[in-house]
Amino acid sequence: MSNPELSIVIPVYNEEESLPHLLGELVPALEATGRTFEIICVDDGSQDNSFAELKKLRQQEPRVRVVRFRRNFGQTAAFAAGFDRAQGEIVITMDADLQNDPRDIPKLLDKMAEGYDVVSGWRVDRWKEGLRPLLTRKLPSMTANWLISTGTGVYLHDYGCSLKAYRREVVKNIRLYGDLHRFVPAIASYYGVTVAEVPVNYRSRQFGTSKYGLGRVVRVILDLLTVRFLLSYSTRPIQIFGLLGLLTFGLGFVIGLYLTFIKLVYGAALAERPMLLLSILLIMLGVQLITMGLLGELVVRTYHESQNKPIYAVREELG
Ligand code: UDP
Ligand code: MG
Repeated sequence: MSNPELSIVIPVYNEEESLPHLLGELVPALEATGRTFEIICVDDGSQDNSFAELKKLRQQEPRVRVVRFRRNFGQTAAFAAGFDRAQGEIVITMDADLQNDPRDIPKLLDKMAEGYDVVSGWRVDRWKEGLRPLLTRKLPSMTANWLISTGTGVYLHDYGCSLKAYRREVVKNIRLYGDLHRFVPAIASYYGVTVAEVPVNYRSRQFGTSKYGLGRVVRVILDLLTVRFLLSYSTRPIQIFGLLGLLTFGLGFVIGLYLTFIKLVYGAALAERPMLLLSILLIMLGVQLITMGLLGELVVRTYHESQNKPIYAVREELG
């Protein structure tokens, strides 16, 4: 059997009520595109009847594939499991909770046909719900999008929208950890992909509850730090740690020189001077940072050479 053209990857965590509606909408929408497809549902350790529901749906619709995790590993892991299994030329991700509209998929495909490697949904009308979500959802979301965009240089209005399409090579080439699923377009930019956005429909949740609270704000900030570092310095850690190290070491050294000078020339007493402590602190910090950079250089070599992972990405080759 030949590979399907599209792979839809859907993380599922306690979404028993949504699932039949989801498949009921998704399958006709996909059939309308005229392409062959597979739907990979990853049950992320649901405690409700999601798995039984998926099993039933698979009997009705054999193009549904189901992966069941042993426990809840998180949305990122669910996406990763789907990406590993995806066979389609184009991989589309979406949520199981009906918040993404399957009828937007053709829009994503049209954009992909223009030659983009990643097309991200942008939930334009997302904020019509009223004031309460303003503080807990809108503000954090806007801040996160702005932070991630400026931090990674990949400007998207809506990193949080799960409805996204990727060319297969893109998702096959990246490894996800932590909560990095939100950053896939930014991580992929490391390989020089082209990214576009299309406005998509947004619906509020009908069944079940959101799996995230405000705690994700902190996690997003920490993840951003990781991604930012990986994008800029993952193959040359000494250049960031070393630079910081040289600066602190240099400052400490100059202060030390000054103190030595006034001690030797003017006979000043140093024991009571906080500056002496500062100088020692800065010099030690500098040495540690430089050492850390050197260790980082070793780690980078192990990372790339142990998996034969090149430090470049080729678009095409002639001859
Ligand atoms: N999800 C998951 N594992 C988790 C949390 C969420 O697979 O640990 C799935 C969930 O079932 C849904 C999607 O990820 O399909 C997005 O979750 P949710 O709707 O709760 O996030 P929100 O829309 O509130 O950002
Ligand atoms: Mg949702």
